[in-house]
Parts: sequence; C-alpha cells; structure tokens
Amino acid sequence: MTANETEAIDEVQEPGEELVSGYGSSPGVATGPVRIVEDIDEADRIDEGDVIVTEMTAPDMVPAMKRSAGIITDEGGMTSHAAIVSRELGVPAIVGCGEATAVLSDDQRITLDGQKGTVVVAEPETESSTAADAEADPAGERADPSTGGAPTTATEVKVNVSIPDAAQRAADTGADGVGLLRLEHILLSTSKTPEKYVADHGEDAFVEEISEEIRKVADAFYPRPVRARTLDAPTDELAELEGGENEPHEHNPMLGYRGIRRSLKEPEMVKLELRAFKRLHDMGYDNVEVMFPLPNDAEDVRRARELMDEVGIDRETHDWGAMIETPASIRAIDEIIDEGIDFVALGTNDIVQFMLAVDRNNAMVADRFDDFHPTILEAMAEVIEACNEHDVDTTITGQSGSHPDMAKFLVEKGISSLSSNIDAVDEVRRVVARAERKLLLDAAREDLDDVEPRLD
Ligand code: PEP
Ligand code: MG
Repeated sequence: MTANETEAIDEVQEPGEELVSGYGSSPGVATGPVRIVEDIDEADRIDEGDVIVTEMTAPDMVPAMKRSAGIITDEGGMTSHAAIVSRELGVPAIVGCGEATAVLSDDQRITLDGQKGTVVVAEPETESSTAADAEADPAGERADPSTGGAPTTATEVKVNVSIPDAAQRAADTGADGVGLLRLEHILLSTSKTPEKYVADHGEDAFVEEISEEIRKVADAFYPRPVRARTLDAPTDELAELEGGENEPHEHNPMLGYRGIRRSLKEPEMVKLELRAFKRLHDMGYDNVEVMFPLPNDAEDVRRARELMDEVGIDRETHDWGAMIETPASIRAIDEIIDEGIDFVALGTNDIVQFMLAVDRNNAMVADRFDDFHPTILEAMAEVIEACNEHDVDTTITGQSGSHPDMAKFLVEKGISSLSSNIDAVDEVRRVVARAERKLLLDAAREDLDDVEPRLD
C-alpha cells in the first residue's frame, strides 16, 4: 500500500475508531506508526517508537521488540512468545488479533491498549502529542513498578524472568527470587540452535554463553534464589534459527520433542546446560537452582538427576526440582517426590493445555484456555497437599500465577510461593498478604467459637 493510500484510509477513519482487537497481554497504552513485519529479516526496519505488527514474534526479534512502542500479533495466546517477552520488556502488546497484518497498514498511526486488547485510530499527530506519546509511556518508566510499603508475606512472591536484560527490572520489584528463568530465550537469542552453536564455537563457549546469561540474573537477585530451567524449546521455534533446518518437522510441537523428553534423548546436550549451572556454583552462586521441564513420571526425574550427578552438581548444597506440567506427572507426584526433589513448580500454561486439550498457541481456542477449570484447581490442590506432606516446596510459574484470584486460591491451599510476571508482583503480594491475614482471622474466630461465652 502506498503512503497516499494510507493517508486516504486515515482520512475516512475517525480517531478512536476500533480497527482490530485481541488479547491484551502486556499492559500499557502506546501510540505510533505501524510496521508490518512479515519476515524476520524485516525486523531491522523497526525504529524506536514503531508498533510491530506481525503474525507471531520470534526469539531473534527481541532487539526489535525492545525498540518498539508496542506489539500486535495475529496469532498466539497469553503464553505465546510475544506475550511473555513483551511483558518482561514492559512493552504494551496485544496477541491473537487474527487479522492485524491484513487490516493495518505500514505507517498508519494507531493507539493500542495492552490491557483492554484494543487497537484504534490514533489522534492526529501534533508536535505536543508526539512529545507526550514519547514521555507518557517510555519503557523505562513502565519498567519501574513501585515497591514502596510492600507487605512481607509468609508465602513467597517471586517473579518469572525469560530475558536476562530484564533481570534488574525484575529484581527491583523486591520479589523473593526468580521462580522461573527460562533458558530457551537465552539460547534462542544466540540465533543458533544449540547444536549449531556448539558446532561453530565449541562446547566450552556454549557452557560459558549460557552461564554468563544466567549469571546476570543470579547477580541481580543475589542472595535471593533463582530457579533456572533446562531447555524447553519446541522444534518449530528452533527451526527458525540457524541450524534449524535439521529440526524434525512435527505436527504438534507442543506435544512433541521438547523439555526433558528431548534432553533425555540427547544427554550430551543437556549435560552442557548442566555444566553451565555447575560453573556458576563453582563461582559461588549458591542461589542458582536447577529445574527440569515436562517430566511425566519418576523415571524421567530420576534420569535427569543422574545427569546432574554425572556433571558433579552437588545436590546437598543446591536445591533442584521439577516442573509439574502434565496430567501424568500430577498422578505420579508421590513417586516424583521420592526422587529427592526440593521443589516442584506448577506449570499451568502446560497443565491447562494438556488437561483441557487446548493448544496454548491457538487463538481460535484461547477463550477455552481456562486456568480456573475445576479439574485444574483440583489437580493443583492435590499436588500442593502431597508436597506439603513431604516438606517439598511448591510454586506456580504459569501465567495464572499473576492472577489475583489464583493467588488467593493457592495461598488457601498452602502453596509455598507464587511466581508472577514483573508487572503483577505488587498486586499479587497484596492479595497474598490479605489472603494470609484472612486465614489467620478465620482461625482466630474458630478458636473463639470454641470458647464458652461468659457474660459477666
Ligand atoms: C508453564 O507451562 O506454565 C510454564 C511456566 O512453562 P512454559 O510456559 O515455559 O511452558
Ligand atoms: Mg511449560
């Protein structure tokens, strides 16, 4: 579309008129010119203050995402790459819009609301509004939530981190640690598959690259604990990278060759990741903990533990654990606990996907992605109960750990900690504090009920 045609569209469209809508996945309001990105090579066209409009973001678009004022995608749900990364960067985003790349056009000035999920025609640009846009919503300011007067809670409130560059912003929330550091974003940001990276640069360089990135987070949080998870990248994401031509083509990558199932098939690769943890431990980062994604049963966890032992990770002095993300692992929780884990993390993004059979990346069924489905709540309560019986720490690291109602429910069920998005930490902490006080009040009232009333 030519600039003239774009102007013609702007003429007939009134400011404030809705153009497209989707799922508000990273809060904040942003105004700027649209840049349609059809191919990753076009990400270089993104200038400071542009709004990226694309089918779905990819790991090597992160630098462009950082520069952008906002992000709009056709595809994806609340746990897609675009949603997770934009939240951490503090860039307003809307995902699952269906047809944004067709409806919007290059250079069109739009305003997106990452809370409501709406995209409207922007007010006409004036000199003062340009300055105001830039000042009203700079990423840096959004990135700095108030931590003043934060209540101390018995249930720890942690934070999720995927991009080490967001570590300081995450640490500044005053969170009690990192409940989930996703290694895949670190690995994928090298633009190469792990195999390709090792082939090009060697094993030691790979170990150093990963450990230096984890170290940024470990430093920002020290001595607060950082739970870093071994690789859980689906093959379709890896296929986008250099070396990705060797990735298998899968019809259902989310159900496929990812997480611990891939690691156990390729032990030499996961051992390099584990060596990165060991390197950090040897450097004195005793706050770095290992977590394994997507086990189905105790055998998966046992084999992962054996690999840790092979690289010499000291399990006596460093906590380790597993994500609980599949129906099978929920049923096997007692046996998994018996493998000696120190903690489990409830991965509700996958628990919901697998228990409700709802593809988490499919916008067509995003309205069915229900973290509060009775089956899900019941399953989580069971896991927490089993873990509490054995003194195993529990946390939630899925997107729903940022939801106030979920926080309240899990505190009542006795969870040890919650891990939220950066922008949700303050609110979750308030909800947790209130839920804990309510539990105490209820208990005190019950005690009073047991006392014989005496009217003197
Ligand atoms: C989850 O499944 O809830 C989770 C935290 O892991 P990921 O979103 O990386 O699959
Ligand atoms: Mg998961």
